[in-house]
Amino acid sequence: MVRDTFARPLGSLRISVTDRCNLRCRYCMPEEHYVWLPKASILTFEEIARLARVFVSLGVTKLRLTGGEPLLRHDLPTLVSLLSALDVGDLAMTTNGLLLEKQAEALHGAGLQRVTVSLDTLRAERMRELARSDRHADVLAGIAAARAAGFAPIKLNTVVIRGVNDDELSDLIEFARVEGAEVRFIEYMDVGGATGWSAEQVVSQREMLERLAERYGPIAPVSSADDPSAPAERFRLPDGTTFGIIASTTAPFCRSCDRSRLTADGTWFLCLYAEQGIDLREPLRSGASDEDLARLITAAWTARTDRGAEERLSVAQRGALYKIDALRADPRREMHTRGG
Ligand code: SF4
Repeated sequence: MVRDTFARPLGSLRISVTDRCNLRCRYCMPEEHYVWLPKASILTFEEIARLARVFVSLGVTKLRLTGGEPLLRHDLPTLVSLLSALDVGDLAMTTNGLLLEKQAEALHGAGLQRVTVSLDTLRAERMRELARSDRHADVLAGIAAARAAGFAPIKLNTVVIRGVNDDELSDLIEFARVEGAEVRFIEYMDVGGATGWSAEQVVSQREMLERLAERYGPIAPVSSADDPSAPAERFRLPDGTTFGIIASTTAPFCRSCDRSRLTADGTWFLCLYAEQGIDLREPLRSGASDEDLARLITAAWTARTDRGAEERLSVAQRGALYKIDALRADPRREMHTRGG
């Protein structure tokens, strides 16, 4: 197993298959115009699978497909089949659900094990404002189709923003319970792309728990001993319903972070907040062997010192991580490019 300077293993790889998205969520893609990765730079499925194989050979046990919106990539089940053949412990995908209804069965059949669907609101009119989309019904249909296809349990990700959707915490818990899903509330993060971020809009884990305890009664933490690197802390309501909170803004968990991110153009980031990534596409396309790639990856990970979210905690006058000009100068700084 390859470990970094804080003894964190190279355990989990998030693979962005496209930087395109069919939503414009205000916490991720609030602008009118974006600079996209050049088409010729986008890795083919075979190139992604080859890199994934090298990562798995170095100890990665969890692969997650992300985007942008991964289902915008044509014929994604073919990539899932290639990755499934690597026999990795966990093969998952995060999607906004818009295109899931039609593809859920094929993805499950191809070997995808788990699905996380972003669901920030249960109100169609609110989604229009929050994500500039009137396709709320498609997201709900996608969740239902995923369940029917055999994905269980489905996770629902909700980015909680004060004054936007923070009045829906218990509604989302109830919805998840009925759907046989588990909701995970994510604190609004000041990552690249969140150009409208401000500390006032963050609803902390502590505040969420206080509000939910007022409604439901005492809330108990659920042990994470079986997956200590999981970003969500899980909790149990008195009636047994479980939910998670990802407190990446107010209580970051960098010390157990085993995650890295591969962009659709083959740039490998060791942290969501990393300024620079490592170009794996160039060696991949210029004849590097698997051993060469493994050496490159091992050297970078063993030197890793990143703990971006923890470092952000000490920033006085915290605001958006990047201004729009800096994002346009390098689209890999965008969360939608490096896979959230
Ligand atoms: S900020 Fe970086 S090191 Fe910290 S949890 Fe996120 S990806 Fe991992």
